[in-house]
Amino acid sequence: MPAPDKRLVVLLGYPLRHSLSPVIHNTAFQHQRLPYEYRLHPVAPDDLSTELLRLAETGFAGANVTVPHKESVARLLNEKSDVVATIGAANTLSCRIGDAGPIIRGDNTDVGGFLAPIQDLLPKLQGGQALVFGSGGAARAVGFGLARSARLDRIVVAARNMDAGRRLADLLRGLSGGCAVDWVAVEEAGPEVRKSRLVVNATPIGMSPLVTDTVWTESSDFHSDQIIYDLIYWPLETRLMREAKARGATVIGGLEMLIAQASLAYAIWTGRQMPLEIVREKLKEHLAGGS
Ligand code: NAP
Repeated sequence: MPAPDKRLVVLLGYPLRHSLSPVIHNTAFQHQRLPYEYRLHPVAPDDLSTELLRLAETGFAGANVTVPHKESVARLLNEKSDVVATIGAANTLSCRIGDAGPIIRGDNTDVGGFLAPIQDLLPKLQGGQALVFGSGGAARAVGFGLARSARLDRIVVAARNMDAGRRLADLLRGLSGGCAVDWVAVEEAGPEVRKSRLVVNATPIGMSPLVTDTVWTESSDFHSDQIIYDLIYWPLETRLMREAKARGATVIGGLEMLIAQASLAYAIWTGRQMPLEIVREKLKEHLAGGS
């Protein structure tokens, strides 16, 4: 239980290993003297529905949602944003009391969080191709953001799960207003990687502790006209980013997306702007092994 004068915000996932979200949100809550407390809250898939009801009854303020619950939670909501209704994945919940009891709403701040670090680069993508590795919750958010906000000519989903790849491509085709959308098996993605102006890793490959892994081993496919965007935020520089940088590509890691999606969630819970510089400083200190 949080302190009696605080409202609880939790991270729902399973299993939950390291997460930077408590550092991000508790730093911001404390800096702005807001009565909230953020905690990790591991919940096994079979317990999600019961646990969500229990949390709602205790008056929790909301939650972030991570693997494996982003999609299953979307079916348990009383209200959902248009993005959640479209892509069927939520990463942010907020809870308020209605006349008939608690109302749990789902939003997806991964879409805005993904776009924030590439906002200034979007004009460079116009008329070009983007490739997204992965077909899970993050890939859907990335695909939605690209289909709606980048004037691309073509989006390619590279998936190991063919059904999920096809389903995501079908979903994005319906959103993209004229941009072609295709899918390809990961092993056959070489020509598409070479052609793409933006390549996004939306899989966990390369994440700590398996830092020598990479979603794409053919680093000679990378070149200086590309942006390589790895959603992984730990390590700060992945093998994918290192190898793409060595080939002259512009590289972006997942930390800025993490902060951007967190600040959108923070605004939903508190109605306040997250103090971004304070949070960024605290994160750097934390990642360098400080408090
Ligand atoms: P998810 O729903 O579990 O999806 C993971 C995707 O990666 C699935 O398509 C999965 O394919 C694929 N995949 C996993 N291992 C693979 C492998 N060895 N080879 C090929 N494909 C593989 O997870 P998610 O929520 O989308 O998250 C994906 C990554 O993005 C995670 O590392 C997460 O930390 C990161 N992320 C970062 C941020 C941020 O703010 N920076 C936000 C969201 C997510 P199958 O369907 O075949 O399993």
